[in-house]
Amino acid sequence: MFELVKELSELPGPTGHEDPVQDWLYGRWSTFAKDIRRTRVNNILARIGGNGPRLALVGHADEICLMVKSVSDYGFLHLWPYYRDQLGRPPRWFTPINQPALVVTSAGNIPGVFATASGHVVGGRNSQKDQFEWNDWFVDVGARSRDEVEAQGVGPGARVIWNPETRRIGHNITGKAMDDRAALAIATIVGERLAGRHDLGYELWLASTVQEENGLLGAASLVDEQQFDCAIALDVGLTGDIPGPDERDFPAKLGAGPIVVYQDASAHYSRRLCDDLVAAAKANEIPIQSAVFQNYGSDGAALIRRGVKTALLTYPTRYTHSPIETVDQSDLEHSVDLLVAFITSGRERKDRPS
Ligand SMILES: [Zn+2]
Repeated sequence: MFELVKELSELPGPTGHEDPVQDWLYGRWSTFAKDIRRTRVNNILARIGGNGPRLALVGHADEICLMVKSVSDYGFLHLWPYYRDQLGRPPRWFTPINQPALVVTSAGNIPGVFATASGHVVGGRNSQKDQFEWNDWFVDVGARSRDEVEAQGVGPGARVIWNPETRRIGHNITGKAMDDRAALAIATIVGERLAGRHDLGYELWLASTVQEENGLLGAASLVDEQQFDCAIALDVGLTGDIPGPDERDFPAKLGAGPIVVYQDASAHYSRRLCDDLVAAAKANEIPIQSAVFQNYGSDGAALIRRGVKTALLTYPTRYTHSPIETVDQSDLEHSVDLLVAFITSGRERKDRPS
């Protein structure tokens, strides 16, 4: 599991440029899927096998990024975020500064660093501001001029991700894109375990979507390519087990099992499908948590909007949308165990509404 999470999370797959992740999945899933296809917007859909209601496990390929909006005379890259910014400046918890950067372009990838002027040059009497504005941050790719940068294929529209390696730290795994590559690792292992088996209660599909982070765009067209009776969206789950959040709001913890999410800011998930996941966990003595989330959404909302009964299964994750997204390997393994148990034992009735 660790090697798979490390490999997937270290692939560069910013929103809108998910090709390295989708290429990797197409290759890996092709080794065990009965059918695999790439849709026009670059989602990947793979049929694993089985008979019964058509069930999709859905993860997203894209990761948080910043967009190059201009290049300075001296070759620095100026940035805007990947999302529609309504604050006019970076929020306090958006923290790329001093991280290794990777500029992702159609011509190739270029290393850099996310930088801001240090206290030595803007401190003291110059330090009037207590909040960053977008233009206080930039990427330094070690060039000396705009021409040098442009010659490498970098200009407005290029994407920049933070790019630390994925490491074990104590009980945890920490890296840049647990959201949502750990989900794709879970889906990959479930697919490998269930391919070729004859005891599935479903016709099982895996899906990897694009552009989740900017509004669930890839998931919105999945059913135009393939109809599904039900789906389980897989994504990061929020925890309150660190200094700061209120445990009354976020009772879930790392290492206490996957989290079934009944509702978030984007959707009310299928109550029965969520209940069935909790029941499958209990019947198989797999640790399980349940929660509701504010300030959070998932591909599941896009699927429900298109008529697919959908549950959301998450793995506890600290420091979401940061360069140090942190998970516990046991939660990922328990997510696999739960999905395998659910798919092999449960037979979802088509005639039962959500
Ligand atoms: Zn996600």
